[in-house]
Amino acid sequence: EDLLADPVEKIAKVGGTRHPSIPLPIDLFGPERRNSAGIDLQDREILADVVRGVSKPPFVPSEVEGRGASDERVSTALDTNGAIGRAHAAFPAWSATPVEERAACLDRLADLLEDQRAELMAIAVHEAKKTVSDALGEVREAVDFCRYYAARAREGLQPIELPGPTGERNVMRMEGKGVWATIAPWNFPLAIFLGQTVAALVTGNTVVAKPAPQTPAIAGWAVGLAHEAGIPEDALILLPGGPEVGAAIVGDPRIMGVAFTGSTATARRIARSLLEDESRPLVPLIAETGGINAMIVDSTALPEQVVQDVVTSAFRSAGQRCSALRVLLLQEEIAESTLEMLSGAMEALVVGDPADPRTDVGPVIDETAHARLMTYRESRKAHWIKSLDVPMEGLFVPPTAIRLGDLSELTQEWFGPILHVCTWKAGELEATIAAINAKGYGLTMGLHSRIARNADTVEALARAGNLYVNRSMIGAIVGSQPFGGEGLSGTGPKAGGPHYLYRFCAERVTSTDT
Ligand code: GLU
Repeated sequence: EDLLADPVEKIAKVGGTRHPSIPLPIDLFGPERRNSAGIDLQDREILADVVRGVSKPPFVPSEVEGRGASDERVSTALDTNGAIGRAHAAFPAWSATPVEERAACLDRLADLLEDQRAELMAIAVHEAKKTVSDALGEVREAVDFCRYYAARAREGLQPIELPGPTGERNVMRMEGKGVWATIAPWNFPLAIFLGQTVAALVTGNTVVAKPAPQTPAIAGWAVGLAHEAGIPEDALILLPGGPEVGAAIVGDPRIMGVAFTGSTATARRIARSLLEDESRPLVPLIAETGGINAMIVDSTALPEQVVQDVVTSAFRSAGQRCSALRVLLLQEEIAESTLEMLSGAMEALVVGDPADPRTDVGPVIDETAHARLMTYRESRKAHWIKSLDVPMEGLFVPPTAIRLGDLSELTQEWFGPILHVCTWKAGELEATIAAINAKGYGLTMGLHSRIARNADTVEALARAGNLYVNRSMIGAIVGSQPFGGEGLSGTGPKAGGPHYLYRFCAERVTSTDT
């Protein structure tokens, strides 16, 4: 019985009563496990048990209605209008709440998320089709965002006394701007959904939050916890729905900022909509979009490490991370030996049910994604280096490596477990970086090399927000590896970085003659 089949039912079922938490072994959640890439099979089995333990009973019908998780099949501009109206009315009181109190709400929310990690992981597995280790990483990152932004708000949002060389007193304050819209993707339906949302809240804004249409349940659960943590119901309103709901939100002149994660095309549509009406205030758009992410490997790289990091970066999470590796650039001398090892490593990947602890690669998110990826993959069949056999039933896309004649053949981001491979010749490092930059994206880049000069060259020339040297290219850690790109990959500021909160603020200066 699929308790989560219907999105509207999903919200009703998970939006309310919660199941008493099932404890997780603490070491699976501790700071040393922040990067869940290192989780071994034994740990995954424990996690899978936890997920199994909650996959049925906790989704009890909600007694709590009106959390904003209304039936979005009938969501109209009118519902959106009402929600934005409530958030607008809630703004003066919330923005006047001391930053210390707002930050305390985020810390309490982090505690509740930790308490409820078993349930949240279970929803992530069932609704977003995450593997158990990805589900753990998801909850961990959501907790990290809450705690990190709380800490940043406490230290970074205090009024700043500025020099007064002319005898005036100058004070700068960071305050909320009004109602923000946060629009989240399905691939991090808890971490990114909450990261954007709590950043807007802690800076004194109220929020209407739109989860991806594929993943409303986990968002509904999270918003329930946020209210329990002390965020007023009207300061954070969940508005699930599809593109029409998104358009209605963004088109509303009371929206004072938008934090969006998703495709470049949608970011552009949002930007256009925000500018359309000439009487509207000019408001910020924080957009975090995709990438054609490359890893450069030179002939001095350690082959075993390269192969392991390529498999992790390209195929983990079924390639459904915007940070994921899309094109591997091998120096010619080592190309064939590396590809042979890579094919062997791909053979070892287990593709299957995400709730099964042995699974490395689960299904993709929905039929549309599946059809698009399968058609593309088929069209490149003559150039396959390696492709796996996978279960026929279900939305599985076989992890596939495809050879390219050169980089110009890759013109878009393929958001799934498809890796492209190209070669470059000694002496062409700079030209190779230039060719990657010329794609116009700039999210993640990887380098495997033992030549310090090559690392310096890549660092100096790469137009990418996150450069990973001699490691995998996914799993940025909040506060340590602020995440986000440039160019077609986004506007910045970086999520989980020290400057993120300021973009949500109205910066105001008072100069007083003394
Ligand atoms: N922050 C994630 C990572 O480093 C990716 C976020 C995304 O896919 O949107 O893997």
